[in-house]
Amino acid sequence: MLEVRDLRVAYGGTPAVRGVSFTLEPGRTLGVAGESGCGKSTMALGLLRLLPATAQVSGEVIFKGENLLTARWARLRAVRWSAASVVFQGAMSALNPVRTIGEQLCEPILLHDKTTHKQARQRAAELMESVGLPPERLRGYPHEFSGGQRQRIMIAMALACRPDLIIADEPTTALDVMVQAQIMDLLSGLVRESGIAVIMISHDLSVLAQLCDTLAIMYGGRIVEQGPARELIGDP
Ligand code: ADP
Ligand code: ADP
Repeated sequence: MLEVRDLRVAYGGTPAVRGVSFTLEPGRTLGVAGESGCGKSTMALGLLRLLPATAQVSGEVIFKGENLLTARWARLRAVRWSAASVVFQGAMSALNPVRTIGEQLCEPILLHDKTTHKQARQRAAELMESVGLPPERLRGYPHEFSGGQRQRIMIAMALACRPDLIIADEPTTALDVMVQAQIMDLLSGLVRESGIAVIMISHDLSVLAQLCDTLAIMYGGRIVEQGPARELIGDP
């Protein structure tokens, strides 16, 4: 479903990702670990061309038979909105501060399910419950939620789009490590039966080893080790 071939990204001539390749099948979870600055976020954002316009990108990102790196913008926007979502990265800025969570969750539901407003409201309430938030909070505004709760909302937003691929990039802000592990755990549970493929990015290899079936370890812009989580970590 996703095949990345020799992805390279540079900022102003300085390479940040130096030739990353991997494949991902539906329903599989890939964990990407590595120390701060090794290029994890750049790689993740590069997949959906969410990088600053000044970044130089090359390689191929074949998603469901289509190279996203050469796709037209309109097509790319459609893919981002319907097939592939990024959660966590800028969880706050992605939410509109002057609209309620309910309004924002219903928007993709109405678009994808083509239901009535009442049915959309119902599905929004179910999504809230599935991410561990009371449905009454649909009436709340983004600033009324904690960082961890906003991440849960971002997962609900991603699921509302019925995606094939979710990319979960650990926030750069220092969110409580326990909260982070819980959110990643929640996400992996929600997608396990769904056939959604997931890329999880974290500096914490032990968290990824528990949640992902395949691991890739990055260093200096390259994947230096890649394989089944069981083989890379070994049985405890
Ligand atoms: P982390 O290492 O925790 O992932 P970074 O400090 O690398 O966090 O990145 C934080 C944010 O700053 C990201 O949005 C990244 O794109 C941006 N950033 C990082 N390094 C630079 C840089 N040299 N110039 C401009 N922006 C940068
Ligand atoms: P990680 O997510 O593994 O912490 P990043 O992808 O954020 O790593 O960063 C990889 C390298 O690219 C770092 O050297 C960082 O400083 C640089 N970088 C990241 N974002 C930017 C940016 N927007 N502009 C310039 N350099 C950046």
